[in-house]
Amino acid sequence: MSDPQGFAVCVFCGARDGESPAFAELAADVGRRIAMRGWTVVYGGGDVGLMGALAGGALAAGGRVIGIIPRALLRQERGKHEITRLEVVDSMALRKERMIALADAFLTLPGGLGTLDELFEVLTLRQIGLHRKPVGILDYGSYFTSLLAAIETMAEHGFVVREHIDHLLVTQSAEALLDGLAAAG
Ligand code: AMP
Repeated sequence: MSDPQGFAVCVFCGARDGESPAFAELAADVGRRIAMRGWTVVYGGGDVGLMGALAGGALAAGGRVIGIIPRALLRQERGKHEITRLEVVDSMALRKERMIALADAFLTLPGGLGTLDELFEVLTLRQIGLHRKPVGILDYGSYFTSLLAAIETMAEHGFVVREHIDHLLVTQSAEALLDGLAAAG
């Protein structure tokens, strides 16, 4: 495992709340479930949107939370200092690099462009063989169904190789996804 403190799941999720409180409830629930397993949450280190809800859920359940935040976003994303460890880095690229290094597995929750950037970073790094860590998508309310369909179209046209997406764990159940990540990790 990459982290001496146990299995670490890096969660990518929105820096906004979305249009329904159900999204933040989902993020808090995922944080809580990771903590209850004795695992560590790795995330972007902010206290906004789903990111803040995720960290809050894990902390409330007594879990370990490691945040990585670029100095330039400390104010905008409200760097969450009360987590187990907040690492402040000098760039967005370093944030991703550090989150990826600390993680044993990746889990994607609903989010926006930043969340997609992070998901595609780990998918493309895996595609070129730079890591073998499991990648999961929590398809809450079919949030990711159209994105997955777009990727499927790319595969049909020969621009995405099946083995580069077949490993993706996609489910609507947080518990099943965490089980899948652990089994593949
Ligand atoms: P969003 O999904 O757009 O709400 O963003 C979720 C998180 O991804 C936020 O913490 C953003 O700062 C972060 N993010 C956006 N772009 C990047 C990037 N290029 N590298 C690292 N983190 C990013």
